[in-house]
Amino acid sequence: MNHKTGWGLIGASTIAREWMIAAIRSQPGNAVAAVMSSDAARGAAFAAANDITASYTSIEELLADPAVDAVYISTINELHAKQAIAAAAAGKHVLCEKPLALTLPDAHAIIDACRRAGVVLGTNHHLRNAASHRAIRALVQDGAIGQPLFARVFHAVKLPENLQGWRINSPAAGAGVILDITVHDVDTLRFILDAEPVEAIAMTPQATLAAGAIEDGVMAVLRFGNGVLAQLHDAFTVEYAGTGIEIHGSAGSIVGRNVMTQQPVGEVVLRNGKGEQLIAIEHGNLYERSLAAFDAAIRGAGAPAASGADGLRSLAGALAVLESARSGCSVAVAAA
Ligand code: NDP
Repeated sequence: MNHKTGWGLIGASTIAREWMIAAIRSQPGNAVAAVMSSDAARGAAFAAANDITASYTSIEELLADPAVDAVYISTINELHAKQAIAAAAAGKHVLCEKPLALTLPDAHAIIDACRRAGVVLGTNHHLRNAASHRAIRALVQDGAIGQPLFARVFHAVKLPENLQGWRINSPAAGAGVILDITVHDVDTLRFILDAEPVEAIAMTPQATLAAGAIEDGVMAVLRFGNGVLAQLHDAFTVEYAGTGIEIHGSAGSIVGRNVMTQQPVGEVVLRNGKGEQLIAIEHGNLYERSLAAFDAAIRGAGAPAASGADGLRSLAGALAVLESARSGCSVAVAAA
């Protein structure tokens, strides 16, 4: 294997430290070449702690480093678009965190910039890499529950103390639970149902953790183009709810427990006239699978697990939920 990919990390972030550096290094020929942080001391400390050769304070320096072939963007949400477009213009492949951008025009601009530059663009929606969600999708596609009619997503968690920063206090950074968690729900449902959300209605509670008008919880219903109604419950404020997803169809139900998580865990049960069947699942690291697919795409052998278009569609669904919660009206999800 002669193929080598040097990665530049844009953002000295928690997700890079906890998951993505190891995921990059898990792929043969892939290495972390540099990190960019707005804070020189924090960037240098991050580089030293994670055994990364170069640390920069500007994206221009990082993009000018010949050891960087691809970038992983995990800065605060408002910066994703500008940084992804700059990376594409420099000829670097782009794996960008969700939400891809804060607005649909910006998400389109990222996709256009990567297409023009001929570089690979992926959105790091990790959940579609989970063996649990892949098993649920296969069951639905195989007709195991007949016609899918309803879905329920349980994704209410307690935001860890070390992440109680921009997500709950900085509207400009793209804060709030909807751009953080709902966007993942939308992608996961699109993936499982192979359908697009067309309409959203949502309510948010009085915030107890987030500042000002930032939402720290939401209950929403999405109507999908295939007729499925999906109920979502997302929060930063509850510790013991547990996570899960259910797909209910005309001939059976699928129940995924503890599956809306970064960890390769959880169980999937198929329930129908024959009783309950625990589905055999071979769990594997979600982020390593994301990297493997992206790396293959760079070599022209496949596509990222979630594309730029997937990032655009999940953002469109999340923005419709946000607008509905603010307006009190049901909102059509913007078409592609
Ligand atoms: P962090 O808050 O850890 O990092 C975001 C930015 O905050 C960094 O780019 C860094 O800026 C700055 N920062 C980090 N640590 C500190 C600190 N101690 N003091 C001051 N500033 C700091 O965010 P996350 O890692 O939680 O999220 C980053 C992105 O990844 C978001 O877009 C989020 O939506 C996404 N995400 C995706 C997940 C997934 O599973 N797909 C899971 C978690 C997050 P600088 O760039 O200047 O170094």
